[in-house]
Amino acid sequence: MSALAKNYNRRKIAFKRGRGSFLYSTKGKKYLDFVQGIAVNSLGHANPYLTKAMNKQAKKVWHVSNAFTIPESEKLAKRLTQKTFADYVIFQNSGVEATEAAIKAARRYFYSIGKPKKNRILCIKNSFHGRTLAAIFASGSKKMTEGFGPKVPGFDHFNFGDHKGLKKAITKNTAAIMIETAMGESGIKVIPDWCLRDLRKICNKKKILLILDEVQCGVGRSGKFFAFEYAKIKPDIVPIAKGIGGGFPIGAVLMNKKVAIAMTPGSHGSTFGGNPLAMSVGNAVLDQIFKKGFLKNVQKLSKHFISELNQIKEDYPEIIKEVRGIGLLIGLQLYNDQTKFIKKLEDNKLLTMKAAENVVRILPPLNVKKQEIDVAIKIIRKVCDKLN
Ligand SMILES: *Cc1c(COP(=O)(O)O)cnc(C)c1O
Repeated sequence: MSALAKNYNRRKIAFKRGRGSFLYSTKGKKYLDFVQGIAVNSLGHANPYLTKAMNKQAKKVWHVSNAFTIPESEKLAKRLTQKTFADYVIFQNSGVEATEAAIKAARRYFYSIGKPKKNRILCIKNSFHGRTLAAIFASGSKKMTEGFGPKVPGFDHFNFGDHKGLKKAITKNTAAIMIETAMGESGIKVIPDWCLRDLRKICNKKKILLILDEVQCGVGRSGKFFAFEYAKIKPDIVPIAKGIGGGFPIGAVLMNKKVAIAMTPGSHGSTFGGNPLAMSVGNAVLDQIFKKGFLKNVQKLSKHFISELNQIKEDYPEIIKEVRGIGLLIGLQLYNDQTKFIKKLEDNKLLTMKAAENVVRILPPLNVKKQEIDVAIKIIRKVCDKLN
């Protein structure tokens, strides 16, 4: 009997090692892993470059308090700001800590300019920003908040795609709009570029902040470093996590200058956030992602993958409803519940993950090989054929 609480519906399968796009189970079977810890292992399993960077740092110093200067975190922050909209960074250890820090920063900004009543955050109903008390009430999902006591105040909601509702929901107390640039858990729903540009305009007009949660779609997953770069806009605050650590727990909130200056000494902190071990891995991840041609290749692989999936959709129109996605954040929306489909893929040695709206979520590592995508395509086609 497991001593682990039952808060997950775990699959039976366990793994003893991984390499690149593959996982090897304790029963000696080899799987193509297109979950990768849910968009976490951006460079695949046991990446030799990351292993080397981590081992090198492990022999020097693992952890020191943020009461001291940490050169590895200085370096990672500098690189994140040089390549993006951001001027300043606060490091955390997970996605939800990053989204919480984003909410705190937005509120603190209005506090710092003498408007403390502007503290409400406007989010999409049934979105996903993590599992702390604040984050579950930010998502406004009944399922996630049920049984967890009094509602955390300060969050308002509008429905996905309801532009009128969004404008109506902005009040004089709204501090920020917080959305995922591409919604992961909610079913791989990509916010179109024109929508993002509109959002930026609305925020400018209303003098409120734009928070884009790129915990899942950020750090190269979309084929650009940030998914919002396609829309050529600049948000004010961006929480990131998953991909930046390549499997090591790292979260961060990126901010522009006007927001960041509100985060004065003592206003926020994290014991582990930005420690030397984590930061050396984060820097190694960026070494790879910032390599010339790396993101262009993600875009190329994405185009190939999505066009092949659309071909399968045309061949099995009664099974597949829609192919969604951006970069290597891909969703296959089925007409029926996707659980059986995902199990069949697993039986054929392809690991995928579910998302809302009957979506099969497909998340290869960003350095996946074209041949590996082609193997996945074959398996997906085979499963469709058997179900037909
Ligand atoms: C996964 C995720 C989070 C939460 O990250 P954790 O590391 O699980 O806390 C927040 N926002 C988005 C968009 C995510 O995909």
